Formats: sequence, C-alpha cells, structure tokens
Amino acid sequence: MDFRLTEEQELLRRSVREFADIEMRPHIMEWDDAQHFPIELMPRLAALGLLGIQFPEAYGGAGMSAVDYCICIEELARVDPSVALSVAAHNGLCSAHIGLFGTEAQKQKYLVPLARGEKIGAWGLTESTSGSDAAGMRTTAVRAGSCWVLNGSKTFTTHGRVGDIMVAMAVTDRAGGSKGISAFILEKGTPGLAPGKKENKLGMRASDTSEVIFEDCRIPDDQLLGEAGQGFVNTMQVLDAGRIGIAALSVGLAQGAYEAALQYAKERRAFGKTISSFQAIQWKLADNATRIEAARLLTYRAAYLKDQGRRMTLESAMAKLYASEIAVKAADDCVQIHGGYGFVKDYPAEKFFRDVKLTTIGEGTSEIQRLVIARRLLTR
Ligand SMILES: Cc1cc2nc3c(=O)[nH]c(=O)nc-3n(C[C@H](O)[C@H](O)[C@H](O)COP(=O)(O)OP(=O)(O)OC[C@H]3O[C@@H](n4cnc5c(N)ncnc54)[C@H](O)[C@@H]3O)c2cc1C
Repeated sequence: MDFRLTEEQELLRRSVREFADIEMRPHIMEWDDAQHFPIELMPRLAALGLLGIQFPEAYGGAGMSAVDYCICIEELARVDPSVALSVAAHNGLCSAHIGLFGTEAQKQKYLVPLARGEKIGAWGLTESTSGSDAAGMRTTAVRAGSCWVLNGSKTFTTHGRVGDIMVAMAVTDRAGGSKGISAFILEKGTPGLAPGKKENKLGMRASDTSEVIFEDCRIPDDQLLGEAGQGFVNTMQVLDAGRIGIAALSVGLAQGAYEAALQYAKERRAFGKTISSFQAIQWKLADNATRIEAARLLTYRAAYLKDQGRRMTLESAMAKLYASEIAVKAADDCVQIHGGYGFVKDYPAEKFFRDVKLTTIGEGTSEIQRLVIARRLLTR
C-alpha cells in the first residue's frame, strides 16, 4: 500500500491550483453576485484538459485516472466550488454516460467535442416530482417510426440553459418500472427542446441550473443512448462514479474553508493574543484537518477502485456521504472562526457556507447515500 501521489500527480495539483488561484479567484464574488456562468473560462479549462479529464486521448480527452480527476476537482473546489460543480457535471454525468454506454458513432459525434471542451454537457434525471425517487419520473419518450418523441420536463439540470449536448432519461415503457426507462442524447436547438426557469440559488451560483422542457421533441433513433429500458440501470452506474467527483468537490471545498480559517486565526487578535492561541480555536482546526484527511482517503480509495475497474458503489457512497458532511462542518467552523467577518462577503467564509449545502444534496442526498450503503452491507 502506497499513499504517496506520483510526481506527475503533485505537478497536476500544482498546475490546477495555480490556474484556480490566478484565473478564478479574482472573479468568484462577481460571478456569484451576478449568478454568471463563466463561459469565458471554458476554453482555458479545456486547454488544461479539465473538460475531458478521464476520457481517452482518442476521444479528445486528457486520458487521466480517477485519482487524477479527484485532484483536479478538489483544486477547483478549493477556490470556487461552483466551477468545480460545473466541471464535475460536464465530465462525470453527461460525458461519462456517453463514454460508458454510447456507440462508437455517438462517441465520435458527441463525446469528442465534449471532452475537448468545444461543447458543454448537461444531464437530466431529476424532475419536479421525482428526485431521490428518480425512477418515478414522468417524462416520456414514445417511438414514432424511426424517431422518438419526448414530452415532459427536467428540474435542477446543471447546464440546462448553457448546455449544448444533453443526456436525458425518459419513460419508454411505463409497465417496466425502473426497467422501462431509457436514455437519450439531445442537441441544443432541436425543435421542442427548450430551457425553462433558471434557478435563483443559495450557493453554487456560478453553476448554471435550470429546468429543461420537452414538447413533442422529436429525435432520431440513433440518439437513443444504451439499450432501450436500460437507461435507469445505466444511470446508477454513472452516479456510482459521479459521486466520487462530488466527494472530491467536498474535500476541496473543506480544504479551502479550513485554509481560510487557519489564516484568519493566525491574524485576528483578541484579548491581546491571536485567536489561534486559544485552545477552542485550535481544536476546531485540528478536528477539521483530521476529518479532511479521512475524507480524502475515502475518496481516493473509491477512485482507486474505479481505476482498477472494480465495483465501488459502496465506497463511492461512503466517500460522498462522509466528505460532504465534514465539508458542511468545515464551512460552519470557518464562519465561526471568522466571527462577524464570517457573516459578510469580504471574506471567503460566507460563500463556502452557502456553496457547501449542495454537497449533501446533489447526486443523491445524505439519506440516499446511507440507504445505498446499508443496502450493500445487508446484501453482502
Ligand atoms: C444545484 C443543483 C444541481 C443539480 N444538478 C442536477 C443535474 O445536473 N442533473 C440532475 O438530474 N439532477 C440535478 N440536481 C438534482 C439533485 O440530484 C436532487 O435535488 C437530489 O437528488 C434530491 O432530490 P429532490 O430535490 O427531489 O429531493 P427529494 O427526493 O424530494 O428529497 C427530500 C428529502 O427527503 C429525503 N428522502 C427522500 N427519499 C428518502 C428515503 N427513501 N429515505 C430517507 N429519506 C428520503 C431526502 O434525503 C431529502 O432530505 C441538482 C440539484 C441542485 C440543487
């Protein structure tokens, strides 16, 4: 067992950290205030390979490992969790679904421009009345000759407005239950496909989130992704890996919040001393540093298993559950250590506190992670 990162991985971490500090940090509050999705950042993310991190070079990707992926997402989230969320959704949901289940022709047509960062990906599973209970979706796709016709809507779709290529799940056989759901690839501009309401969010405000509406949206049969009826089953596999990304995002966010708290504690004075000399503050720092390391190890273990081609449903759910919950604590302690300055927008604490809540909700709530973990434990 070797816990060290390779020299290449250390270099990767330094490059992404430098990129995030120089290209992102100066703008994050402006993006957050305006709920501006930084489309102008996409070519620069693409130049670093961050929009096709784990896809083979033959498909326009950077050919990196799942552990490398975690390092990239962590370093983006350390500075701006909402950019990290967009990068994770683009890579880990839309592109990953096509990469895992697409035909060769679909990969050439859709995955290559996604991995090169020429197109932005969106992935629609959640609907207004079905989130955790995703198989209860209402959107339908009905066969009409050599086409499929989609009707319904998706809620909370990351890149619902800015996405160029979307993977969406729809019921193709109501009687089949979760085996009656299929996945489809949709292209922006297709008649009958339109973005709906843009969400006005608590946090992750620079990541575009909106409704997507399908009204007699007709697409050719070759845009069916994977086998008909296997869409939901495939989705569970996409989410197993996707959750490693949200775990890494949580670790990075927690690291950013911890570092901000540490720096502030060393500077802020009270009762004639820096507040870092008070044991109450030291214990918060020590506990957060310890929890972050534990979360990072769980996350890297899940990523390692993915790199080995092994099943990691249990490990990715554990990593996502633990990392997101300790990140909430890290962001809370960051505000507390900043006192009143944690409550205003001049310091990063306030934004971490708002952004972090998504991590215990997106790609399966903490309750759903516990359900997945318990199911795996009880059936072993
Ligand atoms: C910013 C953002 C971005 C998102 N991006 C995407 C995206 O790109 N694509 C996409 O498809 N979705 C996306 N989502 C949706 C997200 O995955 C869902 O919000 C999440 O899965 C929860 O679903 P829900 O909101 O319907 O909550 P619900 O499922 O209604 O849950 C409400 C509460 O009930 C609990 N609960 C539900 N069922 C159970 C159970 N069986 N046992 C115990 N507790 C339970 C939940 O844990 C939660 O606490 C995004 C959401 C947000 C906020």
